[in-house]
Amino acid sequence: VNGAIAEKDWAEAVASVQSIIRPGAEVLLACHVNPDGDALGSMLGFAQGLQQLGVTGLQCSFPGPLSVPDPLHMPGMNLLVPEEQAYTAPDLLVTFDAASTSRLGSLAQRLDSAAMSIVLDHHASNSGFGKLSLVDPDAAATALVAARLLDRLGVQYDLGIAECLYIALVTDTGSFKFDLTTPEVHELAARLVGSGISVGAISRRIFDTRPFGAVKLFGEVLGRANLDPAAAQGRGMVTAVATLDDLVKHNQPGYILEALIDSVRCTAEADVACLLKQVSEREWAVSLRSKGGADVSKVAVALGGGGHRLAAGFTGRGSADEIIEAVRAHLV
Ligand code: AMP
Ligand code: MN
Ligand code: MN
Repeated sequence: VNGAIAEKDWAEAVASVQSIIRPGAEVLLACHVNPDGDALGSMLGFAQGLQQLGVTGLQCSFPGPLSVPDPLHMPGMNLLVPEEQAYTAPDLLVTFDAASTSRLGSLAQRLDSAAMSIVLDHHASNSGFGKLSLVDPDAAATALVAARLLDRLGVQYDLGIAECLYIALVTDTGSFKFDLTTPEVHELAARLVGSGISVGAISRRIFDTRPFGAVKLFGEVLGRANLDPAAAQGRGMVTAVATLDDLVKHNQPGYILEALIDSVRCTAEADVACLLKQVSEREWAVSLRSKGGADVSKVAVALGGGGHRLAAGFTGRGSADEIIEAVRAHLV
């Protein structure tokens, strides 16, 4: 399956990778800020594939502090370097799951200095950067695009590669539940499971384990959720707001809130779900979800972010009420 990507682009990507399989070549892989399972998993899985092919001077990075949430610890993390230490002019740069250069922080500078750059992504909102752009908006995860390239390169999925790609696939498909869960997704999953990964342990770690403090925290934030039946052209919107005070009170790290949107979006009376996660006094990470009536990526892009039709996000500045009102205004 090729999806939206032309065969000549695959051929160019294969040739570019093969040309850096030589001693002394510097290869930098980069994924988006605050990496999720797909960003990290596709990047680190691909990295191990390159190692299998004999690539040596290999670095992986993402902008911001080099911390990875416990549930997302996976093979290949030894390759991670802070953005300041990343090669300044690599022979090859490959980006993963980043829809725009703003998601790459200072690593975006390497798009100009790298001899060659390849963008692997699946966001319809991808702004089109990099010398070679391999973007398939119909792919459920960037990992699917990365796997197509690994297959063309003749890489065999060992345990490490398989665990990374599986984590990417299982997170971005919501455990194979979302609309883009195609036969190709299941076929790739079958191959990954066939490499011997522990599916139950991975799922428990990523989806079904959180500290008791987080259980209480979720209950408190959900207890304050608000349903606005008139919003989104009468399709309804449910909103929830998690503050820094909530995190402090329950002694939880910010990443623990990544799973909370799934408990908000199940609201039957609302097509749109909106979760505000406070980052600082007047800054919020906003998650948007739609059941199909609204295109939330349009809302997110209009407010400076990005994403997919049914799952998008942006950074909001102002009070929680102001941000909710802005989302509401863009849903008409
Ligand atoms: P999240 O709600 O954080 O799970 O993100 C859902 C989708 O929205 C992901 O596909 C992200 O790529 C996208 N997204 C989230 N936050 C941002 C942002 N600040 N800028 C651009 N895209 C974002
Ligand atoms: Mn992502
Ligand atoms: Mn993704």
